[in-house]
Amino acid sequence: MVLVLLILLAVLLWIIQKELNATAPQEPFPAGQCPACQAAIDIDWMVCPHCQQRLRESCCCCHRGKLIQQEFCPFCGQGSEEEAA
Ligand SMILES: [Zn+2]
Ligand SMILES: [Zn+2]
Repeated sequence: MVLVLLILLAVLLWIIQKELNATAPQEPFPAGQCPACQAAIDIDWMVCPHCQQRLRESCCCCHRGKLIQQEFCPFCGQGSEEEAA
Protein backbone atom coordinates (compact mmCIF):
# COMPACT_ATOMS: atom_id res chain seq x y z
CA MET A 1 0.00 0.00 0.00
CA VAL A 2 2.81 2.37 0.92
CA LEU A 3 4.60 1.47 -2.30
CA VAL A 4 1.51 2.33 -4.34
CA LEU A 5 1.27 5.69 -2.58
CA LEU A 6 4.93 6.36 -3.27
CA ILE A 7 4.50 5.54 -6.94
CA LEU A 8 1.42 7.75 -7.10
CA LEU A 9 3.37 10.56 -5.44
CA ALA A 10 6.26 10.12 -7.88
CA VAL A 11 3.89 10.22 -10.84
CA LEU A 12 2.18 13.28 -9.39
CA LEU A 13 5.50 15.05 -8.88
CA TRP A 14 6.51 14.16 -12.43
CA ILE A 15 3.26 15.57 -13.78
CA ILE A 16 3.65 18.75 -11.72
CA GLN A 17 7.22 19.17 -12.95
CA LYS A 18 6.11 18.72 -16.55
CA GLU A 19 3.33 21.22 -15.98
CA LEU A 20 5.74 23.73 -14.45
CA ASN A 21 8.12 23.34 -17.36
CA ALA A 22 5.30 23.86 -19.82
CA THR A 23 4.10 27.03 -18.11
CA ALA A 24 7.52 28.37 -17.15
CA PRO A 25 8.01 31.99 -18.15
CA GLN A 26 9.60 32.26 -21.53
CA GLU A 27 12.99 33.80 -22.07
CA PRO A 28 12.58 37.58 -22.02
CA PHE A 29 11.77 38.74 -25.49
CA PRO A 30 14.59 41.09 -26.57
CA ALA A 31 12.04 43.81 -27.15
CA GLY A 32 10.92 43.40 -23.54
CA GLN A 33 14.25 44.56 -22.25
CA CYS A 34 15.68 48.04 -22.22
CA PRO A 35 18.80 48.12 -24.44
CA ALA A 36 20.38 50.68 -22.13
CA CYS A 37 19.72 49.47 -18.58
CA GLN A 38 18.38 45.95 -19.27
CA ALA A 39 15.32 46.63 -17.17
CA ALA A 40 12.22 44.64 -17.98
CA ILE A 41 9.92 46.83 -20.00
CA ASP A 42 6.59 46.47 -21.68
CA ILE A 43 7.07 45.97 -25.40
CA ASP A 44 4.59 48.75 -26.10
CA TRP A 45 6.37 51.40 -24.06
CA MET A 46 7.92 54.27 -25.98
CA VAL A 47 10.43 55.24 -23.28
CA CYS A 48 12.13 53.21 -20.56
CA PRO A 49 10.77 54.41 -17.20
CA HIS A 50 14.03 53.48 -15.52
CA CYS A 51 16.60 55.35 -17.57
CA GLN A 52 14.44 57.39 -19.97
CA GLN A 53 16.05 55.63 -22.93
CA ARG A 54 13.85 55.97 -25.96
CA LEU A 55 12.66 52.50 -26.93
CA ARG A 56 10.39 53.27 -29.81
CA GLU A 57 9.94 56.07 -32.25
CA SER A 58 6.98 56.68 -34.42
CA CYS A 59 7.63 55.69 -38.00
CA CYS A 60 7.76 58.67 -40.32
CA CYS A 61 5.71 56.70 -42.83
CA CYS A 62 3.01 54.79 -40.99
CA HIS A 63 3.39 56.51 -37.57
CA ARG A 64 3.39 53.25 -35.70
CA GLY A 65 5.83 52.82 -32.80
CA LYS A 66 8.77 50.92 -34.14
CA LEU A 67 11.66 49.76 -31.99
CA ILE A 68 14.41 52.37 -32.01
CA GLN A 69 17.13 49.74 -32.52
CA GLN A 70 15.36 48.37 -35.55
CA GLU A 71 16.88 49.42 -38.85
CA PHE A 72 13.56 49.63 -40.55
CA CYS A 73 9.91 49.80 -39.68
CA PRO A 74 8.52 46.27 -39.37
CA PHE A 75 5.04 47.54 -40.14
CA CYS A 76 5.58 49.26 -43.47
CA GLY A 77 9.26 48.57 -44.27
CA GLN A 78 10.20 52.24 -44.16
CA GLY A 79 13.96 52.63 -43.61
CA SER A 80 15.27 54.95 -40.92
CA GLU A 81 18.13 56.59 -42.87
CA GLU A 82 16.60 59.98 -42.17
CA GLU A 83 16.82 59.26 -38.46
CA ALA A 84 20.54 58.46 -38.53
CA ALA A 85 22.62 61.20 -36.96
ZN1 LIG B 1 16.31 51.63 -19.39
ZN1 LIG C 1 6.22 52.36 -40.76
